[in-house]
Amino acid sequence: MSLRVAIIGSGPAGIYTAEALTKQAVVPLEVDVLERLPTPYGLVRYGVAPDHTSIKSIAGYLRGVLESPQVRFLGGVELGKDVDVADLLDCYDAVVYCTGAMLDRRMDIPGEDLPGSVAATDFVNWYCGHPDMPADRFVLDSPEVAVIGVGNVAVDVVRILAKTADELRATDVPEDVLTRLAASEVKVVHMIGRRGPEHAKFTLKELRELGELANADVRVRREESVADVSAASRQIRGNVEVLQSWAARGLTGRPRRLEVRFWMRPVEILGEERVEALRLERTRLVDGRVTGTGEFETLPVGMVLRSVGYRSVPLPGVPFSETTMTVPNEAGRVRDREYVAGWLKRGPTGVIGTNKSDAAETVRTLLSDLSDRYGGSDPSAPSAPAGPSGREPARRAKLDDLLAARGVTPVTYEHWLSIEAAEVALARSLDRGERVKLLGLAAMRTAYDH
Ligand code: NAP
Repeated sequence: MSLRVAIIGSGPAGIYTAEALTKQAVVPLEVDVLERLPTPYGLVRYGVAPDHTSIKSIAGYLRGVLESPQVRFLGGVELGKDVDVADLLDCYDAVVYCTGAMLDRRMDIPGEDLPGSVAATDFVNWYCGHPDMPADRFVLDSPEVAVIGVGNVAVDVVRILAKTADELRATDVPEDVLTRLAASEVKVVHMIGRRGPEHAKFTLKELRELGELANADVRVRREESVADVSAASRQIRGNVEVLQSWAARGLTGRPRRLEVRFWMRPVEILGEERVEALRLERTRLVDGRVTGTGEFETLPVGMVLRSVGYRSVPLPGVPFSETTMTVPNEAGRVRDREYVAGWLKRGPTGVIGTNKSDAAETVRTLLSDLSDRYGGSDPSAPSAPAGPSGREPARRAKLDDLLAARGVTPVTYEHWLSIEAAEVALARSLDRGERVKLLGLAAMRTAYDH
């Protein structure tokens, strides 16, 4: 008898969970990875910046997992719309929720909902060609924009705003988005940190890239780059050194300029019909808390991108803590036969690889809980041999029948391969890099449904 597991979400957490199951389980296994979109890889496809090709190459590794004989991909199937938790518990022995953190956090300041004040997550989805984000969602018609936050997402967003379309031609940015980036009128990008350079969340490698842009100068104010890092980690010392070196160098007349700011917090977004300016207040730390000094500055920006962290979205019928914005769990266990992994489990922290050990912990819990029912498991034992029946074991019929009865036709892994092939062909026809993403569900459907 096989252990049947449904994984909800095909981003890194979901696929690492599938991998951990195939490696740890010593019983025959059937893993279905259910995904709302027609495409796998979640944040690797729709969150990692298009010019970060080495991080994006993780998709090659994840692909190997999806192609394991025990694993099946079912795209276009949404929890809460096409199936509910009761259906899943009826069709599978266990369910693992891995839907990540898809929404932005808010700043709760006046003007936050003005047109032109946008979530960095939306902007990231836009340039990554997420099907929820049409090409005309962003018009870069303001000479100055502000990005709030000094984490790695802010650095990605700033870099994409600062690069020329030519620098992004070889990436997989959808052609319509590239055209809009080429028409960008942005000249100055302000990146705003509410604390000091020693508190910034970006990593050194990512920060350094901002100093190497062909099209943009970087400016840091000398007085804002001062920090005592004698007791700080190497990473923080490195960040501060780089920022201080930028503070010491002059502008070279490049067409765009990055203003990296510290000790400034946004207090209001100003404008009548859309964003016209951003009001900042200088800050200092009082007992470790960010506190306003009463000294204000107004930036004449036409767009504000909030890059102050992601948050998870509650799943219908699944427990959720509004305090931690995660699914409450013990080492991945949510309730009987329900588990969680990734950002939905621990919050939006860490690099993609962090999800591997996170998923492994959840799978250990799952196998230890279910071992009595399925003949035992020993994580230290060698992997179970691949099933002889290829990628379509018969017992999966229950979910397939249920979906068919509801008129839901899942996007198969083979369909996904057709989408990939169409993206490679598109890149060739446009004389661009390895692939160019298809934009929108209709274009994807055309790629596999002919
Ligand atoms: P993050 O690292 O948590 O950074 C959030 C930033 O927003 C911090 O600077 C934070 O400042 C600031 N912030 C929060 N609330 C604010 C407010 N109300 N007003 C002003 N500033 C505020 O989040 P992230 O950049 O979204 O990244 C999420 C995760 O993805 C991280 O683990 C990141 O490393 C990872 N990631 C990695 C890469 C890469 O490896 N290349 C790329 C993208 C993302 P405080 O510190 O003062 O709270």
